[in-house]
Amino acid sequence: MSTGHLLVIGAGQAGAQLVSSARELGWAGPITLVGHEPHAPYGRPPLSKAYLRGEVDAGGLALRSNAFYAEQRVELVVGDRVTHVDLAVGEAVAESGRRWTFDRLALATGAEPRRLDLEGSDLDGVVVLRDVADAAALTRRLSEVSDLVVIGGGFIGLEVAATAAATGVRATVVEAGQSLMNRVVSPDTAAVVEAEHRAAGIQVLTGTRPLRLHGDGAVRAVELEDGTELAADLVLVGIGARPRDDLARAAGLCCDGGVVVDELSLASDGRTVAVGDCANLPDPTPGAVPGRRLRLESVDNAIEQAKVAARTLTGDPRPYRSVPWFWSDQGALKLQTAGLAGADDDVVVRTGTRAGQHVALRYRGEQLVAVECVNAPADFLVVRKALATNRTLPRDVAADTGVSLKKLLR
Ligand code: ADP
Repeated sequence: MSTGHLLVIGAGQAGAQLVSSARELGWAGPITLVGHEPHAPYGRPPLSKAYLRGEVDAGGLALRSNAFYAEQRVELVVGDRVTHVDLAVGEAVAESGRRWTFDRLALATGAEPRRLDLEGSDLDGVVVLRDVADAAALTRRLSEVSDLVVIGGGFIGLEVAATAAATGVRATVVEAGQSLMNRVVSPDTAAVVEAEHRAAGIQVLTGTRPLRLHGDGAVRAVELEDGTELAADLVLVGIGARPRDDLARAAGLCCDGGVVVDELSLASDGRTVAVGDCANLPDPTPGAVPGRRLRLESVDNAIEQAKVAARTLTGDPRPYRSVPWFWSDQGALKLQTAGLAGADDDVVVRTGTRAGQHVALRYRGEQLVAVECVNAPADFLVVRKALATNRTLPRDVAADTGVSLKKLLR
């Protein structure tokens, strides 16, 4: 059954995991993994941190050894992009003119950074950070500039701002929302993180956005909606990512801000699987809001969803159930979240935790649905485990730091 050709398009974290898991679970036929970047699959999280600081080079980012692909009989094709897929015939065509026939297709095409669409956004020195080429260019520029303006106070923007500030670059973060990282954490947690960044010398402006960028060839300043002009010789745009679902859409698969998949990772044709940043999936959490769909841009999801898809492909399907978790290292801050809270979910902050630590529990009614931790990895692990086993913590005692979370959740 699993003896046909499995073609995996997209050689990032999800694609790499999918080929590993499919082989491990018994896919016996040939496997091809195609990626458009000129590199074997690598991990992206260090690009905005250790790589920028020069602590790891491109080779150190590789997710698997070169020997792995040979040993696992995975044909790895890098530097080529699939431009057309015919699902009825089972054929894919790449930019280079290469063609593959396939029995099963997996889409792991990822996401690409949203760009600013403003006057001056094509000036030299206005950059994004997604892949290793972006990171190499950013590293080079950071060593030459004095004023960095980051547009977007999400994980990427804040990680880069913290790294830059630590090397003496003046950094300003411009966030359109009322609080930083508003897609992922509560305003309470954002306030803790913001205070830390200010203390490190980063200027943080929330509730405002850029209107236009000034410069003559190279960027010189960012003008905000309120008229403020910020000096800038480098602008990093970190305003989120757009799923790469064009190929799927053109192939006739249902897409809606990502390739629409079910809990087995199957796309609308019931045969193709889609995983990772490009997939629009049903909420996998134990207390899922019925009908809620979302995209999850995280290493955790790339790995776990790829495992689900591998089971589906090898004939042992099991629905995706998971408590998604995220992390972000921003200078001295280690932010970790688990579970999926919405803006309507309540926040219970555990006051009196150790200095420098912050733990916020998120509640939907009486049900604990998520946790946000700053520099509190032990508490994070305890709550993450509780969420995974659908244990809750009575709200009225949750804020009491006299009792450890470990005891409370026992
Ligand atoms: P990333 O992965 O790029 O960090 P996120 O979606 O986590 O993406 O964060 C992007 C942040 O950028 C969000 O907090 C969002 O409110 C903010 N944002 C989006 N558009 C703009 C804009 N035009 N100006 C400033 N901030 C923006």
